[in-house]
Amino acid sequence: MENSIQHDVLILGSGLAGLRAAVEMARRSNGRLSIGLVSKVQLMRSHSVAAEGGTAAMMRPEEGDSFELHAWDTVKGSDFLADQDVVELFVKKAPEEIIQLEHWGIPWSRRDDGRIDQRPFGGHSFPRAVYAADKTGFFEMQTLYDTLLKFDNWKRYDEWFITAIAIEDNQFRGLVGLDVTTGKFHTLVGKALIIAAGGAGTLYGFTTYSQTVTGDGLAMAYRAGLALEDMEFIQFHPTGLVPSGILISEAARGEGGYLINKNGERFMERYAKGKMELAPRDMVSRSMITEIEEGRGLKTAEGRNYLQLDLRHLGEAKINERLPFIRELAMQFVGIDPVHEPIPIHPVAHYSMGGIACDINGATAVEGIWVAGEAACTSLHGANRLGSNSTAECLVWGQITGEQVVEKYWHSGVAFPKLSAAFVKEQEERLEHWLSNSTGTENLYALRRELRQTMDDDVGVFRTGEELQQALSKIQSFKLRYRNIRVRDANRVYNTDLIAALELGNLLDLAEVAVASALARQESRGAHARRDFAERDDENWLKHTLAHFTLEGPKLSYKPARITMWKPVERKY
Ligand SMILES: Cc1cc2nc3c(=O)[nH]c(=O)nc-3n(C[C@H](O)[C@H](O)[C@H](O)COP(=O)(O)OP(=O)(O)OC[C@H]3O[C@@H](n4cnc5c(N)ncnc54)[C@H](O)[C@@H]3O)c2cc1C
Repeated sequence: MENSIQHDVLILGSGLAGLRAAVEMARRSNGRLSIGLVSKVQLMRSHSVAAEGGTAAMMRPEEGDSFELHAWDTVKGSDFLADQDVVELFVKKAPEEIIQLEHWGIPWSRRDDGRIDQRPFGGHSFPRAVYAADKTGFFEMQTLYDTLLKFDNWKRYDEWFITAIAIEDNQFRGLVGLDVTTGKFHTLVGKALIIAAGGAGTLYGFTTYSQTVTGDGLAMAYRAGLALEDMEFIQFHPTGLVPSGILISEAARGEGGYLINKNGERFMERYAKGKMELAPRDMVSRSMITEIEEGRGLKTAEGRNYLQLDLRHLGEAKINERLPFIRELAMQFVGIDPVHEPIPIHPVAHYSMGGIACDINGATAVEGIWVAGEAACTSLHGANRLGSNSTAECLVWGQITGEQVVEKYWHSGVAFPKLSAAFVKEQEERLEHWLSNSTGTENLYALRRELRQTMDDDVGVFRTGEELQQALSKIQSFKLRYRNIRVRDANRVYNTDLIAALELGNLLDLAEVAVASALARQESRGAHARRDFAERDDENWLKHTLAHFTLEGPKLSYKPARITMWKPVERKY
């Protein structure tokens, strides 16, 4: 084990949320607060660079938008599970972030009058998504990174894989993990931690997420004693490219794209006449599965179901200007030019509404730990996130958590905590076990495939108690088999086999939480659609699920959703 590294603050994750928090802390402390920014991938390869379509913010009161309207859209989109005080804070802060990025030099797309442009997105009743063509996340990340470079007192630990979060006496103590490039084991001690480690998209095989998004931060926090909240709510995005699952951004529908079935009908007319293709994602995805189940879908030569996204009527010039990346993706991955042919699409696992439980400022129940971005469950999104609200959330809570940490730790003279030697030893032994376990018989990649297939088959857009029970039993048996996996590569440098094993352990814990939470929730709300409990049940279920780790599996409890202004009503579009 190498000597312990010390920083005042550690940030686990260098995606949008982590970078925004780093910039906030660097500038608020005049560059003097020591920040350690840890990422298992190269900084600019964090998943956020893949965000395409836009970032929601109320920018045009003079043209009819308002904070109330953005908040109402978000609350209604959440199927009334969002904590409404959080939503109110969010809508007020999101425009400040857009302007702040503008000042830091981001090339937002512009209207003819030179003002920042905005495009429509699903579930929003005003064109509210600020964007940079269809590469919004990339430009946001690059702008934040460029800004961070103006400050000195931060250090990046790229390609460091964190394996555990140390908490003792309800106080954050430090992180332990591997420098993947050398295989050396390290400890990082900090007075505070911001977990900005992203979601858990690769719980599924058919997903929009990069293979690096394996829910490590969530799983480590859960095992360390923090609660995971609302993990049953997993978003299925309507337009995953068939067969890969690569995202075709909602921007394509925002710019006017149609969803059509095998008869060429714009079938959303049957399900959401008012919003058509721009209904919220949970509704569009359910409508698509219904079309397929009722025989109006198409099939690939390999037998995969799909529907089509039709952009032809937009014309080549508009597609090139607004959706160049979408055109490139379709041409490269399925050989279809959307200027001339519709794109084959199917609902695809896309986003974790759930995450680590925290308060409105991202502070967790553990002293010294904050959470931001997709890893957090501030409960902004409730049971269903509106498109373009996530990148905005990353920016808003990156800023808030950064500010909170500086206020609390900058002048306080708090001493560095001690990381217990026993904890470090236990973690080191865990890694050594995998490296030396040459007798394991389970193939970890086969097991991972089975897990993802189970999630794809049994924990999809529609669920039943029977399917969920079956999935839970399988996941529990996978967990037993996991103990017997074999890491074939015994080397230390760039041991991706070892990383895959650690990630699989994280996915298994999260799958168990997601499915147990879904099985317990006997209603349909937002992205959680139970065929056996088809109605929303506000009397019994207007509450958040909390899952705590126990050796026997997740222990579930509940807390009420916070309602400030908007009483739940029937959700129609
Ligand atoms: C294809 C796609 C397009 C999207 N488009 C949009 C959009 O247009 N608008 C919108 O609002 N939302 C969009 N989203 C959602 C949005 O992009 C994400 O929710 C958001 O970017 C997540 O950012 P984050 O900072 O929380 O996490 P990430 O960007 O995922 O970053 C996580 C960080 O944690 C690090 N990390 C994780 N585990 C470990 C570990 N064990 N050790 C060390 N480091 C670790 C990673 O290396 C990474 O740096 C899109 C999502 C997808 C999949």
